[in-house]
Amino acid sequence: MPSFIVSELGCSHCGHLFIDPRLLEALDELQQNIKQPIQILSAYRCPTHNRAVGGAPRSYHIRGQAADIRVHGLSTRALYRAALCVPAFRDGGIGVYLHRNYLHVDVRDCPYRWGVPRHMADHQ
Ligand SMILES: [Zn+2]
Ligand SMILES: [Zn+2]
Repeated sequence: MPSFIVSELGCSHCGHLFIDPRLLEALDELQQNIKQPIQILSAYRCPTHNRAVGGAPRSYHIRGQAADIRVHGLSTRALYRAALCVPAFRDGGIGVYLHRNYLHVDVRDCPYRWGVPRHMADHQ
């Protein structure tokens, strides 16, 4: 079982929780690979909260398929490389927020990247 606390995945504004099990499995796999607890900054967002934080209207957070994550002591670059080793994220969405020091990962059905510095691109 994942060691992150499932309540961390709920909407931070109303506590609602709606999570695609594939996201949980992928986060667990990532956590096992890096052998450190993943800090979940934001996972599920209800539409109201998503609007309030300026999220994209069709954000995967609303579908319970995305998480914004950070790992203490691990750079966002290193976390990005680790996420590429998890098939559900490699074949899904990964957004790099270098300046705000977190990674967005989601389990959409097609590979999609943003914010990846050119020298870090995974040439897919
Ligand atoms: Zn909410
Ligand atoms: Zn996100």
